[in-house]
Amino acid sequence: MDGTLRNFLKESALELGAARGALGDGHWRYGVDDDGIGWLVLNCEGSSANTISDPVLRELDAHLQTVEADTPRALVVRSAKPSGFAMGADIDTLADMDAAAAEQLLTEAHRIIDRLEGLSCPTIAVVHGAALGAGFELALACDYRIAIDGASFGLPEVRLGLHPGLGGTVRLPELIEPTSAMQMMLTGSTAHTAKARALGIADLTIEERHLHAAIQGVLDGKVEKGSRGLMARAFALSSARALAAARMRQTAQSKAPQDHYPAPHALIANWEKHGDDPEAMRKAEIASFAELLQSQTSRNLIRAFFLRRKLKQSATRDHGITDVHVIGAGVMGAEIAIWIAMQGKRVTVSDPDDDALGAMIRQATKICDGAHKTALETRDTLDRLMPDPQGHGIARADLVIEAGPEKPELKASILADIGKRMKTGAILASNTSSLRLADFIENVPAKTRFAGLHFFNPVSKVPLVEVVSQEKTGKETRERLLAFCTAIDRLPVAVTDAPGFLVNRALMPYLLEALLLIDEGIPKERIDKAALNFGMPMGPVTLADQVGLDICLDVAESLAKSLKTPIAAIPSLLRDKVEAGNLGRKSGRGFYSWENGTPQPDSNATIDETMTDRLILPMLNACAECVRTQVVGSADEADAAMIFATGFAPFRGGPLHYGRTRGHQIVHQRLQELEKAHGPRFKPDPYWRDDLQA
Ligand code: NAD
Repeated sequence: MDGTLRNFLKESALELGAARGALGDGHWRYGVDDDGIGWLVLNCEGSSANTISDPVLRELDAHLQTVEADTPRALVVRSAKPSGFAMGADIDTLADMDAAAAEQLLTEAHRIIDRLEGLSCPTIAVVHGAALGAGFELALACDYRIAIDGASFGLPEVRLGLHPGLGGTVRLPELIEPTSAMQMMLTGSTAHTAKARALGIADLTIEERHLHAAIQGVLDGKVEKGSRGLMARAFALSSARALAAARMRQTAQSKAPQDHYPAPHALIANWEKHGDDPEAMRKAEIASFAELLQSQTSRNLIRAFFLRRKLKQSATRDHGITDVHVIGAGVMGAEIAIWIAMQGKRVTVSDPDDDALGAMIRQATKICDGAHKTALETRDTLDRLMPDPQGHGIARADLVIEAGPEKPELKASILADIGKRMKTGAILASNTSSLRLADFIENVPAKTRFAGLHFFNPVSKVPLVEVVSQEKTGKETRERLLAFCTAIDRLPVAVTDAPGFLVNRALMPYLLEALLLIDEGIPKERIDKAALNFGMPMGPVTLADQVGLDICLDVAESLAKSLKTPIAAIPSLLRDKVEAGNLGRKSGRGFYSWENGTPQPDSNATIDETMTDRLILPMLNACAECVRTQVVGSADEADAAMIFATGFAPFRGGPLHYGRTRGHQIVHQRLQELEKAHGPRFKPDPYWRDDLQA
């Protein structure tokens, strides 16, 4: 953190304006400095990040009354939290609120934000870190926005099945080019510092140490406010909006069909109808936000938000891990090492292949760029990421992650070798995806500190990590690993050492069923379309190609060998592809050809419900079995794991929640019908018989 910012945060939290009678010991503090500038500083109580809740707004209202009386030369609004400006609305209050209560709450919130906008003095939002959702909407009500390097702005409400509700749909299209504003709101994308400046969201981007000069510049009239130009004026015409709205609707429908995701469509409709009338747009925003809040989609997406938070909270202790050693710099090892180094840990990496270590360093720069790291942050990451061909780091590491090839004998010898070289108290974790930890236990000296850390590919995009306990893994080891995953910004779920753990156990029947359908002569595009229509992010055939057909075959064989429950027979066409070297995306060809980019599903394909059930219900059934046999602690954890590892249609709230919504009895009956028609792999798990559940 910039030293000047650190000083500011300290001062604002402790001393800002104290000598001048700063007001407020709640979420906000207000004071006027010696230059006659008012400072309104948000520091939400009892939380490391600011959220815009009803109490926060009410307090703001009271402070605005003081500001109106004080008439400072300017009002600066900023955050005292190192974590950033503000993360958005308080979701806890919104969840379960009925439409009338939501409308009332929003109308009052609008009144307060309008009051900020209506102040007679210039208002300046100074944003460091993220200004998201209602946080960004607060900044939008100010006359100027100064972005401190690294700041980002976004309205991600669509991810909760909503659109902005605190004036964002009115103010952002007024501030920047309207179709760019709509694009941001429809996709929930974030504009990082440079982009925010280019779009006209930020009037200035500066380093923290130049803040006072920047504020002075605003007061001296040296900061020009951007102008939206011709395009914006063109959209005052309803015919121009209608044309643009038709295009937006088409894109939204292909990415987020209205039946599944109504919010983008509601936003487009509001803008098309009221884009030239701020007052009408404001009313429409409040009404449709309140209505969307009642939708199943929003309820389920908010559920997914809460599940994410619950996984994060599963870490209850210190992990004590600062040094990590990763064995293997292949597809997984390299990404795991880079990710952990990006999160501030020192990581050494060994691999007999020097080229793999070199490639890892090049990949690190790319991943840092993709994550919008500054040049300094990238340099720091690279400093922490150390190729270590001899494995000297093993002796110093608090955690060693084994990500060598998925070959049992080789893994056994690697694990035995590392076990001897590790320091006392250190944890050894394997990233194996298809082998049982139990099979290696004899090779490991410290059995209570041996576990699995199953990351998913690509590590930087898939947040879930399965923390796998074998029979002898100690509670302390499991808890330290859960805490470590949270500390490196991944979502941990505790599972046991069952075949395929949870995620691959549930995913594999889905992938195999898709291949059996191909065997039956159904076009792969139609199969993928069925899954996409259900709401999966990718069709199963495309996914199998993406994961790698050799990996799919390994996992399927391992499951077939060790599972007690029957799974689909491994289709011969999978073996044939692997033998021919057609491994999917990585070899350029699998079921699809990948030479010309990602294959596209057939949008005209006809889907029947039975095909969808054949794909989806085995996944539900496997999750049910994992909950019943305690591979995973609860149905909620299983749902969260499937959403955050596989992207299982989040608007359905997770596989078991979907089963609940559809009705356990109906799922049971449907599986029985499929069992009759297609064989024992569809045998319903006893979980679906509510009368058998404890
Ligand atoms: P990979 O073949 O890409 O990488 C393995 C690396 O290990 C190679 O760079 C190889 O040179 C190196 N290696 C070989 N012998 C070694 C030794 N004695 N010591 C240290 N390194 C050695 O494999 P991968 O896809 O990265 O998989 C690694 C592990 O992660 C496997 O256990 C796999 O099941 C698991 N996994 C893979 C995926 C995936 O999608 N690829 C996903 C989750 C988990």
